[in-house]
Amino acid sequence: MKTWNLDREGIVHEPPLPRQYGTELLVLKEGKGVYLWDVQGNKYLDFGSGIAVNALGYGREDIARIASDQMRRIVHTSNLYTTEPTLTLASKLIASGPFQAVHFGNSGTEANETALKYARLYARRKRGEGHHALLTFSHAFHGRTLGALSVTPTEAYREPFEPLLPGVEVCPYNDVEALKKTVNDRFAGIIVEVVQGEGGLEVMSREFAQALNELRDTFDLVLIADEVQTGLGRTGYLYASEAVGLLPDIITLAKPLAGGLPLSATLIPEKINSLLKVGDHGTTFGGGPVTTAVASYLWDTVSNPDFHKEVREKGEFLEAELESLRKEWSSGALLLSRVRGLGLLRGLEVEVEKGDMGEWMKKILQAARKEGVLVLRSGKNVIRIAPPLVISREEIREGIEKLRRALQSVASQM
Ligand code: PLP
Repeated sequence: MKTWNLDREGIVHEPPLPRQYGTELLVLKEGKGVYLWDVQGNKYLDFGSGIAVNALGYGREDIARIASDQMRRIVHTSNLYTTEPTLTLASKLIASGPFQAVHFGNSGTEANETALKYARLYARRKRGEGHHALLTFSHAFHGRTLGALSVTPTEAYREPFEPLLPGVEVCPYNDVEALKKTVNDRFAGIIVEVVQGEGGLEVMSREFAQALNELRDTFDLVLIADEVQTGLGRTGYLYASEAVGLLPDIITLAKPLAGGLPLSATLIPEKINSLLKVGDHGTTFGGGPVTTAVASYLWDTVSNPDFHKEVREKGEFLEAELESLRKEWSSGALLLSRVRGLGLLRGLEVEVEKGDMGEWMKKILQAARKEGVLVLRSGKNVIRIAPPLVISREEIREGIEKLRRALQSVASQM
């Protein structure tokens, strides 16, 4: 076996993984709370949560115990049968809104595939043929499988795999007039994010949410809120839809749902469930007893209104800290132009005087890692911060200080 080419900073070079992930990856070993350690013993404050997943932090004995207890009982049954953890979680999820059933899957993209299929099925069984168009928005991200990719307009993600699904149209995000001009009876459904997690952290306006609700009612469309990144407390609300008054028919969830284990959910109303026939859709692994037992436990924390209030308050604290960073960097070769996002999903928009934006963003993320804080990127030029939701104010301040030093080190290279 080839030994890995590991350096002192905990980076593996040319790993036996596809090059889509890059040729240098940090090798993490363990975590506790909001901190992570790599295989060389370097410590990091986690401002990324494994891309908005690890809501309750690392090293949780409670979660490990639930998963291992369930693994000793039964790990897998398939969807030819069901289990008590699956039923318990589904019951909790449907009680969170006007839903009648939950389709479980294993990833965000699958949750969205399911939602898109249900939208088409609903249109066809309710209105007949000719109403199959799907609407998505500029800078949206809904996943990497071919259906979800078809409603993800970013050219770089799509181009090698085209042609994708026909019948998809793209409208500018938050543009009410363009939306009203585009939507008509040809459409089966609309898929939309309340905060564009991968596309730059733009937040949906209340007017846009209102227009979406109205168009759904007018044309009997299926309105899908992709809350894969924003759902389950991340924005300081159970669902970000609540923050802007969006009233979706379907909500899709994944990332934090099962405490880091792969599980997704597509929450559907009676109007869709009543049209489904045996065999219309399915999955082998989705909603197994281990992932749902963990998710059911996690749900009791992330669905608690006191928890949401805390996230909102910490989110405002983070926003204020980011604002002060922005003011410090309001001119010069490296400039921070805007703070974006909601709750504990926030971003700092970066502008540079010259050079390649992508290269500078890479340098910022790398400098942050060297200072001991892991941050993410969103869109072309936004530093994304999505810490575990259990982070304290003190830890937020510590992360911001590390980010400040990282920005200073990158600016000094300009
Ligand atoms: N939808 C949104 C809003 C996302 O942010 C993501 C992932 O980043 C996905 C869908 C796809 O999720 P997954 O990577 O689990 O397939």
